[in-house]
Amino acid sequence: MYQLIIFGPPGVGKGTQANLLAEKLNLFHLSTGEYLRKAVEEGTELGKQAKVIMDSGMLVPDEIMIGIVKEALEKNISGKEGFILDGFPRTIPQAEVLDILFKNFNYNNIKVISLEASEDELIKRLLLRGRSDDTEATIRKRLEVYKDNTEPLLNFYKDKIIRVNGTGKITEVNQRVINLI
Ligand code: AMP
Repeated sequence: MYQLIIFGPPGVGKGTQANLLAEKLNLFHLSTGEYLRKAVEEGTELGKQAKVIMDSGMLVPDEIMIGIVKEALEKNISGKEGFILDGFPRTIPQAEVLDILFKNFNYNNIKVISLEASEDELIKRLLLRGRSDDTEATIRKRLEVYKDNTEPLLNFYKDKIIRVNGTGKITEVNQRVINLI
């Protein structure tokens, strides 16, 4: 059973690669960013709260995100060959709770795919993408939040990390990932 986390800075292509992997390997793909964007679109209470935070480039509080992931993991895995988490965990407290969830579910073969690209490349890609949180100021904030809160996870997961060069064609990056997992 695939037990994957895809990890990397904003704009590195986590969502694109997670989608491809989920399709090819029949995985449950949980993108916490997509989940929140859907809530924003639907105008739910969560969506209203999340929109302001997302547009400022900050992180939605850990308790909220942990609740979402816990519920999703409990519900959606049957019939799948495993799962891929995309955009979660993003902080050490999220990773610590996830560890406990994984222990409860007996998931003990976790692999963390770390996608990598230079900051210049990330900014270039984000500006081309044009999501509502892809303005220059928000991008700068998200990269800063990534460095402060998320990058420390590289050390947290040091025994499980698979580093992958995220530059080049989408299909090439995908092949690199598949060769390594
Ligand atoms: P993403 O699509 O992964 O780039 O996420 C877009 C935005 O959603 C982020 O900038 C955060 O505001 C919020 N978000 C997504 N996942 C998380 C998470 N695990 N923890 C906190 N905020 C998150």
